[in-house]
Amino acid sequence: MRNALGLMLMSVVAAALIATGGWFWTAPARSAAKAKAVAAAQAAPAPPPASAKLAANHDPVEVTGSIPEAPHAPAPQPREAACANPDALGVSRVVEVDTTGGPGFGFEQFKQFDFLADKEVVLTFDDSPWPVNTPAVLKALADQCTKAVFFSIGKHASYHPELLRQVLAAGHTVGTHTWSHANLNSKKMNEQLVKDEIEKGISAVKLALGTAPAPFFRFPELQQNAAAVAYLGTRNIAMFSCDLDSFDFRAKSPEQVINTVMTKLQKQGKGIILMHDFQKHTAEAMPELLLRLKAGGYKVVFMKPKAPVQTLPEYDEEMMKEMKISVSTSVRPVSSVIQTVSQ
Ligand SMILES: [Zn+2]
Repeated sequence: MRNALGLMLMSVVAAALIATGGWFWTAPARSAAKAKAVAAAQAAPAPPPASAKLAANHDPVEVTGSIPEAPHAPAPQPREAACANPDALGVSRVVEVDTTGGPGFGFEQFKQFDFLADKEVVLTFDDSPWPVNTPAVLKALADQCTKAVFFSIGKHASYHPELLRQVLAAGHTVGTHTWSHANLNSKKMNEQLVKDEIEKGISAVKLALGTAPAPFFRFPELQQNAAAVAYLGTRNIAMFSCDLDSFDFRAKSPEQVINTVMTKLQKQGKGIILMHDFQKHTAEAMPELLLRLKAGGYKVVFMKPKAPVQTLPEYDEEMMKEMKISVSTSVRPVSSVIQTVSQ
């Protein structure tokens, strides 16, 4: 019976895949003109410095068939330390997302789930992780005892796995943002390349973290199309657009980031805020921006998944070879090796 049921289910899934595949490249892009304008202006992440490339490739390769669920280096466990700041912005509400079927969030592109009350905001950061800027954002969030969602680029995770592990260890949600920040709506892409970008990104982040990330995904430059949305749906991965774009990649100062966010919030009243921990001005703006949110009566809603993403074994294997990270030796956090027990 179970086999028969399994076969039936597989047939249904296969039929759905075939059906979506049929209109993959004929379906018109659904992105609104506004989103396209945003995307056109959005700067692609800078290429990594030579040292970063070296860092990603220097370790001896220890290739196995798949990434173990529990590698030798334990994945960092989120800490729930008491908040030392009595005036902290904090987290007013934690929401758990059932990502079955790939729900979409952020009214710029998805208008299904209006789950935020007036004055509620969700903090999200793209293009993670990056030296200096990501740790600065983490410190600002920790000082205000608040939590955010980070969308990591697979390549950035491979350059700086230790930084991404700090994000997870601080209790934030880590989602993904493709392998190389490719525009999935570009004419140069095809069905296989879209799948590769999505899946390599997810497996790379899993390899960097030592544990599977959240089934949360954001399209680079907010460039979605119907076929890619359908694919993510079959993978039970939630998609994040935004309600409020900080345009921090265009900002010429931290003040400009703060003013854009606060002005839009005053007008809209609530929303998922899109920022980049990759950007220097954003990192510098964050302490003041969080104070302004608190002073303005805004409340932070923290989004986390009901369950981690299921990676595909063939991509896990490919990324093990491509990233050349020895899981057993390269990413064990210092705090798991040596700790001060008395002073
Ligand atoms: Zn991005």
